Amino acid sequence: MADILFKEYENCRLCPRQCRVNRYQTQGFCGEKSDLSIDAVLLHQGEEPCISLNKGSGTIFFTGCSLRCPFCQNMQISQKSTCKKIYSMDKFVEAMEGLIRSGAENINFVTPDHFSPHIIEGIKALKKKGYKIPLIYNCSGFQSIEHLKSVVDYIDIFLFDYKFADPDVAKKILTTENYPEVCEQALEFIFKNKGNLTLDSHGKAISGVLVRHLLMPGFVHNSLRIFNNLLVDYGNKIYFSLMNQYSPKYLKPGFEYLNSRVSNEEYNEVVDHVLALGFVNGYIQEFLDADDEFLPDFNHRTVFSNRISKITSFINKKSDLE
Ligand code: SF4
Repeated sequence: MADILFKEYENCRLCPRQCRVNRYQTQGFCGEKSDLSIDAVLLHQGEEPCISLNKGSGTIFFTGCSLRCPFCQNMQISQKSTCKKIYSMDKFVEAMEGLIRSGAENINFVTPDHFSPHIIEGIKALKKKGYKIPLIYNCSGFQSIEHLKSVVDYIDIFLFDYKFADPDVAKKILTTENYPEVCEQALEFIFKNKGNLTLDSHGKAISGVLVRHLLMPGFVHNSLRIFNNLLVDYGNKIYFSLMNQYSPKYLKPGFEYLNSRVSNEEYNEVVDHVLALGFVNGYIQEFLDADDEFLPDFNHRTVFSNRISKITSFINKKSDLE
């Protein structure tokens, strides 16, 4: 397939940053030009059980990010990639086919927004070849409605971050005080279009929305507010994943107040609050050892009394399917 020119990159407004730069000539705030740039393609065993299931989630990590959190847990991929490779459309489709041949439970596009034109075209090519597999948009929560309208019909599952509910906290940490507003409108849109997460009879996610929230050290109040909002807006059956895996390992200078792990007390306070609110569809994490990094395993909990779950480190083995 000849490579395609995408008009969306010429005056880029793919995310709320609205840079309006010509990415065929220069990069925007996300740090990426128009070439499809991927850091890793791998079978990921560390997502939630309904996403990784048996063989793992067929995960594609794009380089760059339109949000660029100073504490990013994927900093080496999102903002400081040293492994970026440029993919042609053919190579991109071949990478997805390779994941499917290896038994991937789904195709999981991580930090996809700024490459959505390529992704949509790749999905069309995959479908034309007859592949049927759940397609996941694994995103930061900083997506405009305009952008979501362009992708929603191609995507089955949204793994959707809800990082901050408090504009002051968002301003302090992200320098984008409108994150809560953008995120809440985006969540409303995708929930209206896709509904709550749906699992098949094997416990595999096949469609809908799973909201992810990462507890930050010193910001319990932000997390409590997020779950209060979720309850009011979506009820206690919404699927969520409450993560305690925060690590300051890649923290940028100037954010020293985030330079610690989340304490047991902080995490328990949020879990207890979630329990008290009556949520029934969630994933929580066991505490990490000091040296554990990145994305651990999750265990599905519909009853939270058993908080023990096996944690394994992020499978950082890069696939030779690239
Ligand atoms: S995707 Fe990148 S270039 Fe486009 S508006 Fe967002 S940050 Fe700017």
